[in-house]
Amino acid sequence: MKRSITLKITLWFTAMMLLLSIIVLVVIGVLAQSTVSQDQRQALTQLVEHNMGEVDIDDGELDLDDDFISYQNGVYILLFSTAGDRLTGYAPYDTLLEEPFEDGSVRQVSASGETYYIYDRLVTDEGSQVWIRGIASAQAVASGSSAMFHAALIALPLLIILAAVGGYLLSRRALSPIQRIRQTAEEIGASGDLTKRIETSQNGDELDQLAGTFNQMFDRLEANFEAERRFTADASHELRTPVSIILAQCEYAFENASGELELYEALGAIQKQGYRMQHLIESLLAFVRLEQGAEPPPFSNVDMSGLVQTVCAEQREIPQKNISLSTEIQPGVYLYGNSDLLARLLTNLIQNAYRYGRENGYIHVGLSQNTQETVLWVADNGIGIAPEDLPKIWNRFYRVDKSRSRASGGLGLGLSMVKQIAQLHGGAVFVESTLHGGSVFSVRFPKK
Ligand code: ADP
Repeated sequence: MKRSITLKITLWFTAMMLLLSIIVLVVIGVLAQSTVSQDQRQALTQLVEHNMGEVDIDDGELDLDDDFISYQNGVYILLFSTAGDRLTGYAPYDTLLEEPFEDGSVRQVSASGETYYIYDRLVTDEGSQVWIRGIASAQAVASGSSAMFHAALIALPLLIILAAVGGYLLSRRALSPIQRIRQTAEEIGASGDLTKRIETSQNGDELDQLAGTFNQMFDRLEANFEAERRFTADASHELRTPVSIILAQCEYAFENASGELELYEALGAIQKQGYRMQHLIESLLAFVRLEQGAEPPPFSNVDMSGLVQTVCAEQREIPQKNISLSTEIQPGVYLYGNSDLLARLLTNLIQNAYRYGRENGYIHVGLSQNTQETVLWVADNGIGIAPEDLPKIWNRFYRVDKSRSRASGGLGLGLSMVKQIAQLHGGAVFVESTLHGGSVFSVRFPKK
């Protein structure tokens, strides 16, 4: 049987209360018995001792003072001659009169099924003697203690029931957030709707914190799934265009091409789209590999001055829009990192500067290092970026002008990759740009 935490707490609580009650009952019983009977015996002896001083015998005649008490609080007082004749007083049962006398000791005797205490004292006055006998019912004693015991016997079970119910309700209330968390998690599991969140009570207790942690996890999961979904959608969208062009060219060639020349043209167009797809798939693969970071790339001490020199020289080889590329490289700059990724970072920035540069424009690449950081920057006087687009350009697949970017082979992944590579090296990316005025992209790697 599965037992809920609430039930376990209640059971434990009730068992403890029961144990406590039994202990209390036993203690009350024992204490009551001994103290009350002690009291009763004390009352008996006290009254007898008191009366001893109130008995005078004048010339063999019994003379009782006014303070003589013959009955008080269940204690009976009787006087006997030494011969055993009753002189005065009253006893509940006659058998109690026949008990042999014993000076100064409390005894327990039973008469017609009831228990009594008897206490005798011998009084001597002017040569004559009388017995004072005190009798007290032990039953009265027992009834006093049992009343207390019975009250406890009724009150304690009631208390246990009250504690059990109270404990059950309280623990159920305290644990109700767990129920909510479980329900929401189940709902999310069943519907796959990651936008759902667990309601929090904002009281900051442990369960509230737990709910908060779950919600943070859902936030991350949702963001990841959303990013994954967008990536797949964008990637398939990018691939769909060249495939459509290839299919259209094939159809045209099969149906309409009349000569070799036209077939060549169609083949050329198909090849171009093939290259484009190849480039696209390679970029996607590189991006995914970088993003998943399954195996961290090997790091070494990279000669950044040499690396920047080489990458710039390579890029100058591809003449574009008659743009000039100049450098300002501090010699002897080293950075602990992965040279392939750092080269890709710089290549992406320079290619963008060409792609979005103006005819006869310039690109300026710089590298410098001080005691705090290594800074790499690429400046151009190209088309620039509007302020509202600036924060978005680092997102994957984001392109300010889709058609222009696509025409020049852009996928919208370049800057996202730059940012990831920079972060992998503990660096951060920055951009300053004015629309139509040019841009400066910089990456700062703090010294470790
Ligand atoms: P793309 O493949 O489109 O170049 P990127 O991630 O490299 O993708 O860049 C994102 C967008 O940022 C580009 O589409 C472009 O609009 C803008 N951008 C990037 N670099 C520059 C630059 N040097 N000058 C102006 N705009 C730029």
